[in-house]
Amino acid sequence: MKPVYMDNNATTSVAPEVLEAMLPYFHELYGNPSSMHSFGGQVMKQVRRARDQVAALLGASPEEIIFTSCGTESDNTAIRSALLSHPDKRHIVTSRVEHPAIRALCAHLATQGYRVTELPVDAEGKLDLDQYRRALTSDTAIVSLMWANNETGVIFPIEKAAEMARERNILFHTDAVQAVGKIPIDLAKIRIDMLSLSGHKLHAPKGIGVLYLRKGAKYSPFMMGGHQERGRRGGTEATPSIIGLGVAAELAQKKMEVENTVVKGLRDRLENTILATIPNTKVNGDRLHRLPNTSNISFEFVEGEGILLMMDEFGICASSGSACTSGSLQPSHVLRAMGIPFTMAHGSIRFSLSIYNTEEEIDFVIEKLPPIIDTLRSMSPYWKTGAKVCEEA
Ligand code: PLP
Repeated sequence: MKPVYMDNNATTSVAPEVLEAMLPYFHELYGNPSSMHSFGGQVMKQVRRARDQVAALLGASPEEIIFTSCGTESDNTAIRSALLSHPDKRHIVTSRVEHPAIRALCAHLATQGYRVTELPVDAEGKLDLDQYRRALTSDTAIVSLMWANNETGVIFPIEKAAEMARERNILFHTDAVQAVGKIPIDLAKIRIDMLSLSGHKLHAPKGIGVLYLRKGAKYSPFMMGGHQERGRRGGTEATPSIIGLGVAAELAQKKMEVENTVVKGLRDRLENTILATIPNTKVNGDRLHRLPNTSNISFEFVEGEGILLMMDEFGICASSGSACTSGSLQPSHVLRAMGIPFTMAHGSIRFSLSIYNTEEEIDFVIEKLPPIIDTLRSMSPYWKTGAKVCEEA
């Protein structure tokens, strides 16, 4: 059974054009781009081309692109670099809804004597910029705020936040893993010091990421080794993946506007039909400032895991919370930060679409989901009695 795949914020399929571009670099053109011979040199040319393609998608210059192994590495590198290059500063500003790639590192750094401010969000997942401004101090080494949330799709006002950090001369990093390829980003117009992206979220393979490093920004490498990436990230380049990411970036740049209109149309039809046909449902997050592909919906008085398992029987793939937090029965930290009531947070499902989804797939989910919710609710004592479930302490 071909899956009805609506979990694209977890990972995407590699685009056929990307795969095709990558294949020769495994078996025929496998030279090391750092080698002196022309067999390696021709691979280096393609790595350069990929760097140009990624830079063009971001409005950056090619020298500002550092290839890494994933979004997590880029995130970790950005924060550790800021702390190493500003040893006198011990404060980090971030938010409560960041991905574990930032949160886990900050939690660790807090045990090492750093002070971490995690900014709260409101019920729609939005940031309060006045509160953010007040959090910035002369001791702040770095601000790290995500561009778009992986669970709700809510977009933070990154331009304004970056500007406010710049006014205070504080390094600004954004985890743009979910934003790149889904919304336009032009770093020629916004002064951001560092930005993370990950290939597998935009139809390139897993295991390739980028750290954008603004020209002139202070930097201290995380991975030390060879002279690759101008000494900013040691390790032989993952050439097939880099070349694939380049093609994915070019495709995103060319097609983003049109594709996202289509994807948004599919998402809105799915979301509006669910809200209209299934009672006690609610969209989580600011519906206006949101990625076009993401819909996080709460189904009151049911467990998200139950919905996922029953949808799985029909081959429907979605997620409850982020891929990294599923498997735990705790409601996600993002929904908890938004103050979503326990009865709602537990039954939240994230649908995240891509250009490979079809109208027929939307019809299929719209047909299968209502009976699934009915079945689960018929087993829920709270749904039957309307009794209040204890809110989380
Ligand atoms: N940041 C965000 C917002 C993400 O959604 C993810 C992955 O889900 C990551 C970082 C980590 O990226 P990677 O899987 O490439 O390490």
